[in-house]
Amino acid sequence: MAIIQTTIDMHVHTTASDGLFSPTEIVAMAAQLGLAAVAITDHDTTAGVKEALIAAEQFHIKLLPGIEISTVADGQEIHVLGYFTNNDDELWQQRLIQLGATRESRNEMLLAKLNELGIVITWQEVIEIAGDAHGSIGRPHFAQILINKGYVNNKQEAFDQYLGEHGKAYVQPLRIHPSDAYQWIKEAGGVAILAHPGIYHNDALVEQLLQAGVDGVEVNHSDHTPDQIEYYQSLAKRYNLLMTAGSDFHGIDEQGTQIHGQLGSVSTSMEVYDQIYLLHRSRMQ
Ligand SMILES: [Zn+2]
Ligand SMILES: [Zn+2]
Repeated sequence: MAIIQTTIDMHVHTTASDGLFSPTEIVAMAAQLGLAAVAITDHDTTAGVKEALIAAEQFHIKLLPGIEISTVADGQEIHVLGYFTNNDDELWQQRLIQLGATRESRNEMLLAKLNELGIVITWQEVIEIAGDAHGSIGRPHFAQILINKGYVNNKQEAFDQYLGEHGKAYVQPLRIHPSDAYQWIKEAGGVAILAHPGIYHNDALVEQLLQAGVDGVEVNHSDHTPDQIEYYQSLAKRYNLLMTAGSDFHGIDEQGTQIHGQLGSVSTSMEVYDQIYLLHRSRMQ
């Protein structure tokens, strides 16, 4: 336990997007595990941060406020983590609303396509399934409805047949470029990190994106192999970037499948938290 008490899990989802636990539950679980700190990094929204900050005080643990922004580069979906953004910044929140609007129009197109295919789903059902995550409805919610209504047997089938890139109802969402996300985050006083480079299977692109104004790279992630971790550490050193680590915990679905990693299963030292905090302070001058 002595080791884990000095560590932080820097990548966690809550019910504010597609995670299964509320911000308060995540903070309580992290404290229970003996982590020194935990981040909240929901997709395209900071809606869970306030609740998490209050819970962090109750449970005597540090909270790293964050976000994970979906972007696209060379037709590939790329995620960018942002930490310590000033969430009272009006321009920042307006920009996130734009992303939400993109997400919403994508969802409406997706629903229309499913209906065209003879699949009977209403917008009301989507909202009900999403629950607290109404600001961040995504494809996993559609997958759940397809399962519940018996159109498919599991999430994999839902994505293969309908929702994935080769599925019948796939809609290419409008997305900003990673460098736009870096800029937005920095202009809001935050610190920008390229998320899970190993899952893109395109290291030439990753190397480009690491030279496009990002502050750091998520070298350690649940889906990275030991070789990948070592490789991204070497890239981080080459380009003088911060090195972060996170489980990308979402919860465990109804089939008992762990999505990415268990909370706290991937973590790093609190020194990284301090580095990020100092960089954020320097941007708030
Ligand atoms: Zn991601
Ligand atoms: Zn994530």
